[in-house]
Amino acid sequence: MSKPLTLITGASSGIGEASARAFAAAGYPLLLLARRRERMEALKLPAALCREVDVTDRTALAAAVAEGEAQFGPVDCVINNAGIARLGNVLTQDPREWDEMIAVNATGVMNVLHAVMTGMTQRRRGTIINMSSIAGRKVYPDHTVYCGTKYFVHAVSESIRGQLAPFDVRVMVISPGIVETEVLDHVTDPVTLRNYRENKVRIGGGISADVVAQAMLFAYELPQNVLIQEICMTPTRQEY
Ligand code: NDP
Repeated sequence: MSKPLTLITGASSGIGEASARAFAAAGYPLLLLARRRERMEALKLPAALCREVDVTDRTALAAAVAEGEAQFGPVDCVINNAGIARLGNVLTQDPREWDEMIAVNATGVMNVLHAVMTGMTQRRRGTIINMSSIAGRKVYPDHTVYCGTKYFVHAVSESIRGQLAPFDVRVMVISPGIVETEVLDHVTDPVTLRNYRENKVRIGGGISADVVAQAMLFAYELPQNVLIQEICMTPTRQEY
């Protein structure tokens, strides 16, 4: 029997891309969403439908999910991963950077949940993996609004876990520390960027996105009545 559909947002780079490769290697059909469609198509994964979707666009998201489900059957696993980190000093930062993080990391996460939750409760199965961060557990310098959005992901995950549990739908949150991805490309504050990079060098670099992807695959492949509620994983030398 063919395996069920996994939806991954932010699949064009970093953790989302690594997840796409890991889940494809394990035989899952994929619905891959991000704005850079060519990057997802360049992965040349089997049974992967790639669509250019901005997670802030609720209508486009719903249309892509409908198209993916028509082709591969219902979404069984969601890696709600798309996110942006515009780190910066909150006293001097352009508030439009706050708007952008809130739109993608908070509203975007809700939009994805909206597109899949009802179907999962009706089918009485499904797994939602919300991408938070260790910055959703504690605060860091120049992470003010980013932390706010990731605390949001934690709070929403806790809340919907309770609401979906009676339907046997699993809600997991994953909270990585520093991971080697393109995430820093979005930081415009040079001081913040320098400090972040120096700290990263000090701890010997971030962990591989592939390791994060493998952890999510492991958690997903556990029996449906077993839920790892949270995975918090960091470089060993990331002490806080
Ligand atoms: P990347 O920048 O490599 O990947 C981010 C992904 O999100 C890209 O595929 C990007 O695709 C997508 N994305 C951004 N904005 C949108 C949007 N509006 N609509 C759709 N897709 C969007 O970074 P990471 O892989 O590191 O980030 C993935 C997640 O992991 C984020 O939620 C991040 O906060 C989280 N995280 C990262 C950590 C790290 O150290 N790297 C640590 C902890 C958590 P495109 O631009 O093509 O739309």
